[in-house]
Amino acid sequence: MGDNMADSVSSAFDADIELGSRILSSFHVDGRWVRPDGEQAVELISPATGRPIAAVVLGSTTDVDRAVHAARRAFDTGPWPRWSGPERARMLSRLSAAIASRLPLLSRLWTWEVGAPVRFADLFVPTLTAMMDYYAGLASTTAFEELRATRAGHARVVRQPAGVAALIAPWNAQSPILGYKLGAALAAGCTVVIKAPPETPFDALVIADCAQEAGLPPGVLNVVVGDAVAGAHLVSNAGIDKVSFTGSTATGKLIAKACADRMTRVTLELGGKSAAVVLDDAELDATLAALVPFTMPFSGQICFAQTRILVPRRLEQKFVEAYTAVIGGLQCGDPWDGATQIGPVASRRQRDRVLKYIETGRSEGARLTTGGGVAPECGEGFYVQPTVFAGVTPDMTIAREEIFGPVAAIMAYDDVDQAVGLANDSDFGLSGSIFTRDLERGYSVARRIRSGNVCVNGLEVAPNVPFGGFKQSGIGREGGPEGLGAFLEEQAIYLPTPLGAPS
Ligand code: NAD
Repeated sequence: MGDNMADSVSSAFDADIELGSRILSSFHVDGRWVRPDGEQAVELISPATGRPIAAVVLGSTTDVDRAVHAARRAFDTGPWPRWSGPERARMLSRLSAAIASRLPLLSRLWTWEVGAPVRFADLFVPTLTAMMDYYAGLASTTAFEELRATRAGHARVVRQPAGVAALIAPWNAQSPILGYKLGAALAAGCTVVIKAPPETPFDALVIADCAQEAGLPPGVLNVVVGDAVAGAHLVSNAGIDKVSFTGSTATGKLIAKACADRMTRVTLELGGKSAAVVLDDAELDATLAALVPFTMPFSGQICFAQTRILVPRRLEQKFVEAYTAVIGGLQCGDPWDGATQIGPVASRRQRDRVLKYIETGRSEGARLTTGGGVAPECGEGFYVQPTVFAGVTPDMTIAREEIFGPVAAIMAYDDVDQAVGLANDSDFGLSGSIFTRDLERGYSVARRIRSGNVCVNGLEVAPNVPFGGFKQSGIGREGGPEGLGAFLEEQAIYLPTPLGAPS
């Protein structure tokens, strides 16, 4: 590999040409591109090469305050929250169309910033417009007012926008996650401040550029880039009515505490340690084909990765051999290569964290069947071999903590009750899957799993279906009408005699 690949990687994305100086050096506040007040800059390091590729200015608390002020004014006095659902729907569709023309750029950006393999990025980035289109549809069909008869007359139940929303997403999947948050927030009539993370600073700014092109009123969508300090300042700002956060459980707890102070509405989409339960009647090849893409998607840096695999004890050896062979045969390397299945992890810090977990797995007695270290043959970036541990027991650290890397833990069970117990023996409850030839059986086992999303024989996340976690995987839901509800407040207005029909 060496220099040739480094050259191909570094020439794969020309930020000056593809993003332009405005997106590279400004924030978007009140419908305008503004020079950041913050002066501290950090380097964006390519995970594919380990070399710096851009400088990122971190927003100051002043930058955050300016963005909140603009969003507040747009909410309190601007047209957006006062438009009807169908009016907002038309603008959302225009925004989605503007974004659709930039999807190839947003996909390449994901590869450039954090090393998502192009085939993975191309598959998942269109979630952004799928969510915008879904919420445009919902904005035009939702009854934002409803009449209910009462003893003394009647009440109008008005679904009001929650207000100014802070949207905070992690580095691992900016575009898809912002699709959920932004689609629902704008459909509801909220105005928003997006705090983009320093690892993926430019995606939200590209979306802001599209918003300007589509003609979204000024102040409705504001973007600042910042780290944890800017994030903490944003969620505790008195101008914020609603926080929609996706990230780690540790940060989610801090945000929940900050929001408790002012009773700020909060949705939390947090970490996971999801279990795939392979039942004894599952067909091996079909199970592997459906399961493998979701055990370590984007090098395991996806919240719903199926990282614990529960197999019947009598089939354990056969499954471990077959699964190890498939994982050991995955094509690792340059994320810009369309054939690559496993690229680098996103950062040096992430690589070191994953290696530490692998070391802990070994020292606590799990049996390594493939991988287990760095992959220098893939390049000078942050490459970790796809790694499988067998003989994992529920007390081991690698069975309990979210690793967020390409590491799978196989655990054996004796009967279905024990499998359900193992699947539920976790602080998390985000996702899960059941593999079986018998769909009725799969459904009844799925009902027993304490997770927000459980899939039988595969994995799907659909725009019209709620996504979110039980237990420490979060509070609230995104997607579907439930996701829209998270950005609304119900107001009851009692009237002695009816007015006209509600709009
Ligand atoms: P993180 O919690 O460190 O950071 C997430 C975001 O919060 C970043 O933008 C960060 O700058 C900001 N932030 C950090 N401290 C803050 C604070 N005190 N107040 C406000 N904002 C703050 O998470 P990460 O490492 O970037 O992302 C990985 C995590 O995200 C994993 O745990 C993963 O499971 C989770 N995740 C969950 C979902 C889901 O839908 N449930 C989806 C994707 C990722």
